[in-house]
Amino acid sequence: LAQLFRPLDMLGMVYRTVRQGLTDMAAMFELIDTPAEITDKPNAPALAVHGGAVVFDDVYFAYDAERQILNGVSFDIKPGQTLAVVGPSGAGKSTIARLLYRFYDITGGRITIDGQDLRDVTQSSLRSAIGIVPQDTVLFNDTIGYNIGYGREGANQTEIEEAARGASIHGFIESLPDQYAAKVGERGLKLSGGEKQRVAIARTLLKNPPLLILDEATSALDSRTESEIQATLERISERRTTIIIAHRLSTVVNADQIIVLEAGRVAEKGTHLQLLRKNGLYADMWARQQNEAEEEAIPAA
Ligand code: ATP
Repeated sequence: LAQLFRPLDMLGMVYRTVRQGLTDMAAMFELIDTPAEITDKPNAPALAVHGGAVVFDDVYFAYDAERQILNGVSFDIKPGQTLAVVGPSGAGKSTIARLLYRFYDITGGRITIDGQDLRDVTQSSLRSAIGIVPQDTVLFNDTIGYNIGYGREGANQTEIEEAARGASIHGFIESLPDQYAAKVGERGLKLSGGEKQRVAIARTLLKNPPLLILDEATSALDSRTESEIQATLERISERRTTIIIAHRLSTVVNADQIIVLEAGRVAEKGTHLQLLRKNGLYADMWARQQNEAEEEAIPAA
């Protein structure tokens, strides 16, 4: 029997590792410049978004020649719909998000937004069309107002407050002695995981992008905060094409489409119900998480 459960234990471990592994994504997306080899084509036009249909067509990718990371990944997301990407650690989930942002160029296939190959449009227009809510938000040692306003250069105080309201953090900020001038970061106020995520959501609301990448919340959030954040994220992903990099299956139930990545391949694709009926990898992962949730709910004797 122990042998039977060992793979399931592995899956649990994998999930815990996934949560930690993605915390670097914010830093990767926000702080590191694009590698020098990514250049705009001469006279490349700006990306023109009409609706935001995203297509991965037989995409191959390797960070280095020795190891292939994505092996012919295909999916398409209709304008305004939500795709959730699930799968074990190292399967290539964050890589998909990085490739959509054109942090790297692919080695085979095509990625398009509204029919335009990412390699044919300017990087600046591509990146201004995509908002990212990372798992761990990087805060600057500056005021909370500055940290929100960073979402869009030149945003005024009224716009910053409107975004904060949309992210349900305005009330919290108003309760601070210095309000929007309150210093945060290492030398200031320490924000909780949930508050940091709300800052990231407010930034994204200011940016108002047609496409969204959501890197799911860490386990550090308590369940009430998590479900409130979840509701806010669902609200901001309405009418925007959204990719959720998911660690917890409970948050992908309502996605229009779920892909299960395994070793750089799409192992399964469908809605939550379709995948449960398939009784495959997703159904196993779901059953496993339900069990874990039940175990957590039983108080220790
Ligand atoms: P996790 O959630 O644990 O990060 P993931 O499914 O998001 O898993 P990716 O981050 O996409 O996986 O990574 C896929 C594979 O690519 C992993 O084996 C990882 O070690 C490798 N990888 C990621 N980034 C780089 C990089 N910059 N250089 C080389 N290999 C990388």
